[in-house]
Amino acid sequence: MDLKAQRTQLSKELDSAVRDVMDASAFIGGAQLRAFEQGFAAAQGVRHCIGVGNGTDALVVILRALGLGANEVVITAANSFIASSEAVTLAGGRPAFADCGPNYVMTAETLSAAIEREKKAGRRVRGVIVVHLYGRSCDMTALGAVAERHELFVVEDCAQAHLGMHAGKPVGGFGVAAAFSFYPGKNLGAFGDAGAIVSNDAALAERMRMLANHGRKAKYDHEIEGTNSRLDNLQAAVLNVKLPHLRAWTEARIRAADRYRERLANVRGVVVPAATPAFEHVYHLFVVRVANRSAVKEKLAAAGIDTGVHYPHALPDLAAYAYLETRREEHENASDWSSSILSLPMFPEITDAQIDHVADALADAVSGS
Ligand SMILES: *Cc1c(COP(=O)(O)O)cnc(C)c1O
Repeated sequence: MDLKAQRTQLSKELDSAVRDVMDASAFIGGAQLRAFEQGFAAAQGVRHCIGVGNGTDALVVILRALGLGANEVVITAANSFIASSEAVTLAGGRPAFADCGPNYVMTAETLSAAIEREKKAGRRVRGVIVVHLYGRSCDMTALGAVAERHELFVVEDCAQAHLGMHAGKPVGGFGVAAAFSFYPGKNLGAFGDAGAIVSNDAALAERMRMLANHGRKAKYDHEIEGTNSRLDNLQAAVLNVKLPHLRAWTEARIRAADRYRERLANVRGVVVPAATPAFEHVYHLFVVRVANRSAVKEKLAAAGIDTGVHYPHALPDLAAYAYLETRREEHENASDWSSSILSLPMFPEITDAQIDHVADALADAVSGS
């Protein structure tokens, strides 16, 4: 990615927005925050938005508001960033993992299998955190039906899926609540850590707003204990400048993905992500699979092309989750593919020439390896 491109494009507006906050010395809970919460709720088509400190806190606050009981199970994606499962533990629960299907996201089948496993082990399953990984929307229709059958709450981890859609509706509104991250590298990035919770449930939203701000109803009136996780006004000011551009940036990501797909269609040895209806994939990452990944990655690096791996280990394979004693066949796709996935350069400002250069270099690298 290229974080400097947006900074250059918007430098005047960003400088003046940040200066205004500093001049007003209103750093916490000011007008910029309220404006952003309203603007982001409108962008995602939901009623309520609560700015919080980061995406991980967003998930934790949601789970705490749902009253997760000690050791109750929340199922999440076997292939995700650790925040998706870490939040469950931080909220007092126990994570369990569902494998991914061919689109790298959880499916009705993999979710059902995980629920059955947990129930068989005698544990109480309370909910599921679906992850729209890489920006690819999960099939919320199918997953919602499974969750309903088992009376589970659904939380969406939208940290990689700003403005993503499923079946013509924006992600973030399918479950009881959803978490977003505005970490600088995300599709909408602040100048530091930042996040938000969205929900259509007024009572739950009120509770989450309290939990994120020391459980307070009004100043020094603490009905419950919460935490300190607020989106500050400087970050909100930056996000307010960027938000109006998010749609065009997302369209640019989709165009870039289409060009990659076109250029790589006839390259043997590279598995590219399937095409989707518009905005069902918002391409936070463009992830391909190749055999011999480390050799391919090195050849690309030698050609001046930086690539990433998201993520090198499936969550249940991490030392942090050894205690869960999962078996590999429970998350076979996630574990198998962790050694062949490769994230190609992807950011809104990427040029056709850059994409072609990457595609050509990748074709060379796989043919020679
Ligand atoms: C980035 C990310 C998070 C956590 O967001 P932070 O703002 O970094 O705390 C959670 N889930 C996924 C899938 C992410 O990519």
